[in-house]
Amino acid sequence: MKNLKSNSRTKEQFCRMQEAEKLNICPFCKEGLKRIHKLPIEKETRDFFVTKNAFPYEGTSAHYLIIPKKHIRDIEELQSEMWIQIGELFNWIRKYTNAKSGGFFLRFGDLHWTGSSVEHLHFQIISGTKSDKSKSDSIKVKLGYK
Ligand SMILES: [Zn+2]
Repeated sequence: MKNLKSNSRTKEQFCRMQEAEKLNICPFCKEGLKRIHKLPIEKETRDFFVTKNAFPYEGTSAHYLIIPKKHIRDIEELQSEMWIQIGELFNWIRKYTNAKSGGFFLRFGDLHWTGSSVEHLHFQIISGTKSDKSKSDSIKVKLGYK
């Protein structure tokens, strides 16, 4: 299985997934990041790119992705030194965005079950925004199965 454009959340995202399919490129591999994702790489390590999510979740003030440079589809393909880089990048993003709270997650496996649109493994870091001065909205992410 490649990508699953039916899991797109917006029309623009769907169109980009369709374009990736037409060009036969992965939106999160190097060429796809340039031609489909289009947002700049904000940080790079030996094995990963960091970029903003082109389609941030509603209400997020920061939505970043940590994407392996290799087309990794399964969490088992991550080497132990890669986990160290992921931790360092998480800390970098947190400081860079000044995120006091947020979420950090990864979906793996069959896209029909995960709701993800891109099979290329990617870590997501989100931080919310305050809806008013007295309270902030809590995180709402599609992680359950209902
Ligand atoms: Zn890829």
